[in-house]
Amino acid sequence: MQVPFVDLHAQYLMIQDEIDAAISAVICDAAFIGGKYVSAFEREYAEFLGIEHCVGCANGTDAIEIILQALGVGPGDEVIVPALTWISTAEAVSNIGAIPVFVDIDPAYYTIDVNRIEERITRNTKAIMPVHLYGMSADMDMILELAARYSLKVVEDCAQAHGATYKGKIVGTIGDAATFSFYPGKNLGAYGDAGCMVTSDSTVAAKARMIANHGQLEKHRHLMEGRNSRLDGLQAAILSVKLPHLAKWTELRRNHARMYGELLTGKSLKIPQIREGSTHVFHLYVVQVDERDNIKQLLKKAGIDTAIHYPSVVPLLDAYKMRRFSRQDFPVASDTVRKILSLPMYPEMTDDMICHVAQTLQKYVS
Ligand SMILES: *Cc1c(COP(=O)(O)O)cnc(C)c1O
Repeated sequence: MQVPFVDLHAQYLMIQDEIDAAISAVICDAAFIGGKYVSAFEREYAEFLGIEHCVGCANGTDAIEIILQALGVGPGDEVIVPALTWISTAEAVSNIGAIPVFVDIDPAYYTIDVNRIEERITRNTKAIMPVHLYGMSADMDMILELAARYSLKVVEDCAQAHGATYKGKIVGTIGDAATFSFYPGKNLGAYGDAGCMVTSDSTVAAKARMIANHGQLEKHRHLMEGRNSRLDGLQAAILSVKLPHLAKWTELRRNHARMYGELLTGKSLKIPQIREGSTHVFHLYVVQVDERDNIKQLLKKAGIDTAIHYPSVVPLLDAYKMRRFSRQDFPVASDTVRKILSLPMYPEMTDDMICHVAQTLQKYVS
C-alpha cells in the first residue's frame, strides 16, 4: 500500500464542483485583485474566529512582517520567537529590521518554553511571537502575563493551527494580533500562496491593510509608503468554498490522530501530547523515534512517505551563522530535531492507511 505524506488532489475531488464554480465566477466577474470575493472571505474568516478584523494578504510570511510593522515594531527592536518553527517566524522579524530572539522549546508540546522567556527580555524587546506548532497551542497564560508585566505585544503565529483552541478560546484571538497562512498544505489551504492577519484592534487592522496595499486605504491617497501584499480574488473564493468544510476536516484529523495514538505504543515511540485545556488540530502528526533517519528510510521502502518538521533548529541554520549560536543554547530543541518524524496526516486518509502506517512503524521501532 502506498501512503503519500499529503494528498491535495483527494481533497479537490471531494469539492470539485464547488471549487470549479467559484473559480469561474471570479473570472467572469474579473474580480482578480480586491473586490467582493476578498471582502467576503475576510468577513467569513473573522466570523469563524469570532474576531472583529481580518485583513487578507499574499502569504503567511508577509502577514507576520506587516502585522509587526502595524504594531509599531521596527529596526533594532527585539521579538521573542521559538527556536523550533518554520523559518518565516524569524525571517519576517529580520526582514523589518528587528531582531529575532530565540527561546528553547518545551519538551512535551514542542511550543516555546514559557519558563525561558523572561531571561531573554531586554529594554529592546517589543513583542513575543508564540507559534502554535503542528496545531497545538502554546502556553498562552504565561505569555500574556509576561507581556502585561513588560508591556509587550503578543502576536500569535497560527499558520499551523486554524481552529485550534486554548482554554476555550480559539487561537488567533488570544494575543494582540495573529497571522495565518493559507499555503496549499495548511489545514485551510488556498491553491497558491495566501495569508491573513487578524486583530480586534481597528487601528492596527487599518494600518495593516494600508501597509499591504501601497500605503493607501482609498485609491491614490497614499498616507505612507507600503508594499504590495494582497490576497487575490481566486484564492479568496477558493478559501470561501473550503472554510465551511474545515470543522469536518479537523474532526477527521483528530480521529486519525486518535487511531494512531491507539496503535502506536511502547517506550521507544513518543506520540503527540495534548496540553490540558487545549484542542489540537493536527496540522502535523509528529512522533519521536530513535534512529529516526533509518526508520524514515525503511518506511519509504515500504511505500510510506514521511517528513521532518524541522531537520534543524532555526537559529542553527546557516542563515544565522553570524549570531554564533550553539546546540547548548537550545538543548531541548536540538535534541528534539534529531528524533522527530511527521507521519502522513490529512483528512482524506482511510483507516486502512492509518493502520498500515502505524503497524509498519511499530514493526521497525521494536
Ligand atoms: C507556513 C508557515 C508560515 C508562513 O506561511 P507562508 O504562507 O508559507 O508564507 C509561517 N509560520 C509557520 C509556523 C508556518 O508553518
